Amino acid sequence: MTRHADLVLTGGTVLTFDAQDSEADGLAVLDGEVVALGDVAPLVGPDTRVVDLRGRTVLPGINDSHLHGAWLGAMWPNTLLGGPPAEQTGPLVSDAASRRAAILRAGDVVAELGITSYTEPGLGPGEDEGATGCFSAAVLEEYAALAASGELRARVTALRLFGVLDGPSSLADFERGLATPPPAADPRWLAVTGVKIFADGIPPMKSAWTHSCYTDGTSGHLLVDGEHDAEREANLRRMIDTAHRAGAQIGVHATGDRTIDVVVSAMADAIAAHGRAGRHYLIHGDLISAATLATLPGLGIGLNTQPGIATSTGSWLVAAMGEDALHSAWPLQSAFDHGVPVCLSSDAPVLGPDWRQWIAAAAEWTAATPGPDLMRRLLRGYTVNAALQDGAESWKGTLEIGKVADLCVLETNPLTINPADLPKVGVELTVVGGKVVFER
Ligand SMILES: [Zn+2]
Repeated sequence: MTRHADLVLTGGTVLTFDAQDSEADGLAVLDGEVVALGDVAPLVGPDTRVVDLRGRTVLPGINDSHLHGAWLGAMWPNTLLGGPPAEQTGPLVSDAASRRAAILRAGDVVAELGITSYTEPGLGPGEDEGATGCFSAAVLEEYAALAASGELRARVTALRLFGVLDGPSSLADFERGLATPPPAADPRWLAVTGVKIFADGIPPMKSAWTHSCYTDGTSGHLLVDGEHDAEREANLRRMIDTAHRAGAQIGVHATGDRTIDVVVSAMADAIAAHGRAGRHYLIHGDLISAATLATLPGLGIGLNTQPGIATSTGSWLVAAMGEDALHSAWPLQSAFDHGVPVCLSSDAPVLGPDWRQWIAAAAEWTAATPGPDLMRRLLRGYTVNAALQDGAESWKGTLEIGKVADLCVLETNPLTINPADLPKVGVELTVVGGKVVFER
């Protein structure tokens, strides 16, 4: 006898994002997994919750692959660039209760947006004395505790941080940190996949390491410890090689073209010497050159970029580097053309976490005509490609039988509208592992 479904959604459109971009008109969930697509009526029993979609559209749950959850939860509704941050007199979080409250608040904020997974890009001992308290090893421990008690409202991937956020790091601290085990957790709720390295700063602050000079004649430098460029580069290469050999995923904050070239070359060397391991990726990638971009797919290196930051800070880039720099910065269309697995993300709370706005912003950075193909491609950056970055494409990121029931229900089918109109489309329902975590 077939068991009845726990939850059924019917009478709308299900965009599965599977390899064929199949669509269905219904979806059934049992024990947290998708068990049927299409005709789900036979699975409805007396205890099944039936959601009549009334023409609304189901997407795979949104995965914001670069979002500082604890920091967002502690700051919300303030953000760094989207409004004046609240006056900060001490750390935003300072004890277990406040860390926990911040993570839970982030869970509420993202649930309302249909976000069912996110990556915490950098938690660890490098920030134990940090000004906000939001990136410490204790925050990662709190995530593990919430994962164990079943209280997380989104699935979390975390990268560990053995240096200072947006600041220096040393090879010795990195090697010592990497040798310590991360907290244990169910990897479907908290997956500690690897490490975050801050290789350089950002172009508007003239702290990204670049081949050409800023308007003041400087060209930045790497953040990794060292007396001079060659020593800093050697230490960064050692970090990447060490983490790769340890099987860790490596996410590198890299914005300047010179930094990006060194990072990709170091990753390529590690792959050539030791084989593929980890889904390594560049974070931000503002000034990546066309030549380096073209090498990423062959190396399996991803690009995690924030269209909202590109839109918000483009004029600052012009002030630091001149008008020409903007023409080649954030080459999203070129990344798509080369087949780079692009992840789009918010970097919240630098900006707000509303992915609908950042998909609209991303469309502005492409040369493509608005339409279903472009929308699918942009949504993949928040679903399929983000699951790839997580190394979790076998069980999440698309709506297929046997995958987890992480769902985002929108009031309008996004494939029928222009990206510029997406921010007005309401999120109606969010489901994580078959459980409703938000309902309008
Ligand atoms: Zn960030």
